[in-house]
Amino acid sequence: MKTIPNVFSNADITVTYNPSQCVNAERCAKELSAVFRNSVIPWIDLDAASTDLIVKQINRCPSAALKFQWRRERIQKTQPSKHPSSRKETIPFG
Ligand code: SF4
Repeated sequence: MKTIPNVFSNADITVTYNPSQCVNAERCAKELSAVFRNSVIPWIDLDAASTDLIVKQINRCPSAALKFQWRRERIQKTQPSKHPSSRKETIPFG
C-alpha cells in the first residue's frame, strides 16, 4: 500500500496538510496537541480527539495549510437521500 504524506483519515474526515502554506505559528499544536503533534510521526493523529474538535481546530488554521473533507460514508449517514422513493410525505386527513 502506498502512503501519501500529509494526508490523514479517520472514519469521518480526510485531512490534508500543505507545509508550504504553513506559517508555523503552532496554533494547531498548542491548542489541540493530542492531534497535531510536533515531535511524533505521523504528526497528525485523528484518533486522539473527536472529529468535531478536529474540524473546529482546522477551521482556526490561519494559513489554510490544514484542510479537511468529509468522507463519503459520513455524508451518506448524515444527509437524507435525494431518491424520490425514499422521501416520506404526509397526507393530511380530509
Ligand atoms: S495552525 Fe495551520 S499555520 Fe499554524 S502551525 Fe498549524 S498548520 Fe501551520
